[in-house]
Amino acid sequence: MDWNDPDVLRDLADKLLEDPQQTVTVEGPDGPVTGSVEYVVGRLGMPEMGGSYFTFATENNYTIWAFLKKVWKKGWLYRGHDVMPWCPRCETGISQHEIVTDGYQQLTHDAPIVRFPLHEREKEALLVWTTTPWTLTSNVAAAVGPELTYVKVKARDGWTYYLAEGTLDEVVKGEYKVLDRIKGEAMLGWAYDGPFDDIPRVQAMSIPAMHRVIGWEDVGEEEGTGIVHIAPGCGAEDFELGQEYDLPALAPLTEDGLFKEGFGWLTGKHVHNVAPEIFHDLEKKGRLYRVDPYTHRYPVCWRCGTPLVFRLVDEWFIDMGESYDKPREDITDSEKAESLRYQIMDVVDEIQWIPEFGYSREMDWLRNMQDWMISKKRYWGLALPIWVCDNPNCDHFQVVGGEEELKERSVEGWNEFEGHTPHRPYVDTVKIQCPECGATMTRIEDVGNPWLDAGSVAYSTLQYRTNRSYWERWFPAELISESFPGQFRNWFYSLITMSTVYENRPPTKIVHGYSTLYAEDGRPMHKSWGNAIWFDEAAENMGVDTMRWLYGNQKLDQNLIFGYERADEARRRFIIPLWNVYAFFVTYAGIDKWRPPDSLIDNPATLDEGHPHVSDPWTDAASPTVLDR
Ligand SMILES: [Zn+2]
Ligand SMILES: [Zn+2]
Repeated sequence: MDWNDPDVLRDLADKLLEDPQQTVTVEGPDGPVTGSVEYVVGRLGMPEMGGSYFTFATENNYTIWAFLKKVWKKGWLYRGHDVMPWCPRCETGISQHEIVTDGYQQLTHDAPIVRFPLHEREKEALLVWTTTPWTLTSNVAAAVGPELTYVKVKARDGWTYYLAEGTLDEVVKGEYKVLDRIKGEAMLGWAYDGPFDDIPRVQAMSIPAMHRVIGWEDVGEEEGTGIVHIAPGCGAEDFELGQEYDLPALAPLTEDGLFKEGFGWLTGKHVHNVAPEIFHDLEKKGRLYRVDPYTHRYPVCWRCGTPLVFRLVDEWFIDMGESYDKPREDITDSEKAESLRYQIMDVVDEIQWIPEFGYSREMDWLRNMQDWMISKKRYWGLALPIWVCDNPNCDHFQVVGGEEELKERSVEGWNEFEGHTPHRPYVDTVKIQCPECGATMTRIEDVGNPWLDAGSVAYSTLQYRTNRSYWERWFPAELISESFPGQFRNWFYSLITMSTVYENRPPTKIVHGYSTLYAEDGRPMHKSWGNAIWFDEAAENMGVDTMRWLYGNQKLDQNLIFGYERADEARRRFIIPLWNVYAFFVTYAGIDKWRPPDSLIDNPATLDEGHPHVSDPWTDAASPTVLDR
C-alpha cells in the first residue's frame, strides 16, 4: 500500500468523517494492520504503515510534547501576550494570512480628533486623531515622529494646540495663529491627561500617571494630526511599541467584543455600537474637537464579514535567553547555560553551510531574534501539552511529556481519551492535579506553531522516543536542502533549535540553501501581474532540455531569472551548437555505416582508453567554447 497515494488518503479522510471508530484493515510493509480509522491515521508514516511522514501522526505529536517538557523543565517556557486580529462574532482569532488573502472591505467610520490636555501648560493640548474610538479607553501614550515638524497653534476656541505642520490645513478650520515650530523630538516626555482617566480599571493600573509623549519613526503626516494615540492592548503596532517602551497593556474587550468589568459605564456594551456614546462622553468632558467620517480599507472576518478588532490574548513563548552586549568568546559558561540562544550558536558552528554566507545569515538571526511564540489560536492541530490550574487564585501550569505520563497523572477523563490521537476534542477531557494547590488542571485550548512540526523531523521520523539505536544509525542527516528566503528564521531555525534542546547536536551535517526564481522583469511571478509562466507552457514552447540547462547551469546563491528571452539565449549559445555536433556525427556515421564497438557501448567509460575517436575540425573548434558554457 502506498501511503503517499492521494486516493488512499482521501478514502481514509471520508471514513474518518463517517465514523472515526470504525475498524479498518490496511496493508503495511510487514503485513496487515487493523485498528480504528483514527488509530490508523495517527500511525501514518510509522514503520508498520510505511510511507511518508505526516505532521498529525501520533508519534510526531508526542515527540514535540517531549521537547516542550524539556524546555519547561529548564524554565524557558512562559505565558506572555500578543495582540491579534479578532472576530467578536465568531469569538476567534484571525491569522494575518487570512486577512491578507480574503479580509478587507471599504468601510466608513466616524473618526474623532480629540484633545489630550498637557500638564503644566494652561489650555494647551495635543490634537490626536483615531479611526477606532473604542481604543481611546485604553490609551497609554501619544506618539510623535521625532523628525517631523510640529506647530503650536492658537485657535479661536481659546485652546493652543500641537499638531504636525503638514496636517494643519486639514485639521484646524477657521482662523488660527501659528505661535511656534518645533521638532517632535522636543516634545518627548511631555505628560498629558488621557481621554478616559475616569475609568476604574485605568486608575487601578495607575495609567493616568504614565501618559507621556513618545517617539515613533513610523508616524507620518499624510493623514490625521501627526500625533498617534497608543493603546498597547488594542493594536499590533501599539503592542510592539509598548514592549519597546515598557508600557502596560490594557485589554478592554471580552471574547465576544463586550467591554469588560471595571470599565465603568462602558462595561457590557458592544465594541461596534459604542462610538456615539464615546463621542458624547468626550464632548461632555470638553475633550472632543471634531468628528469626521473616514473611509478606509478595514479588515473584516473572512467567515462572517464582521469588522475585526485587535485583542490582547495569552500566548505561549520559548525564552531564547539574553543577548549579551559582548563578543561571543567572552560569554561565560553560566551565561551560556542560561541562554538557549548561545547554545544554538554552538550547534550552528558545527554545521557546514552551502553557500557559506548561510552561516552568517543564521547567526545574525540568532543574535537578534525575539522569544519564539509557539501557540496559535486554532481548533485543530498539534495540541500543546500545557495544563493550567483551574483555581483562579493559582497561576501554576505544567507541561506533560507524553502519553504514558498523561495516563499516570490523569485524575479525570482518561477513559474518554484512551484510543484517540492527542487532538481536540478528546485530549481536552483529561484533567491532571495541580501540585501547588491540589485543584484540577485543564489543557489550554491553543494548538502549536507549525514550525514545531517541521523542526522535529530529525527526531520524530527516526523513532527517537521508541528505538534509540535506530535513531543513532541515521542521525544526523548528511544534508538538508531548501530554498533559503525565510528559512533562516523558519525551518533551519526550528530544526536546529529543537535539536539543541534534545541533544545539543546538529541535526544535519550540511545545510544546503538555494535562491529563488523570478520572472524576466526581476519580480516574483504572479498571475495577476501577467508575468507568470506555467510549467507546461514553458516545456511546450522552450523545450525541456533548455529548461534543464537553465536550472542545471544556475548558481545556487543567485536568483534564477526565468523567461523566454533567457531560454532563447541558452538555446542559441548552447543547445543548438550541441545539437549540430550531434547531428553532424549521426549523419556521417550513418552514411559510413559506422557503429561503436560493443565494448564501448557496454562500458562508455573506456572511451579514453584508445578507442577510435570520431572527430572533425569543426567539432574540435566548437567544443571548447560550447563546453565552457
Ligand atoms: Zn466572524
Ligand atoms: Zn493550582
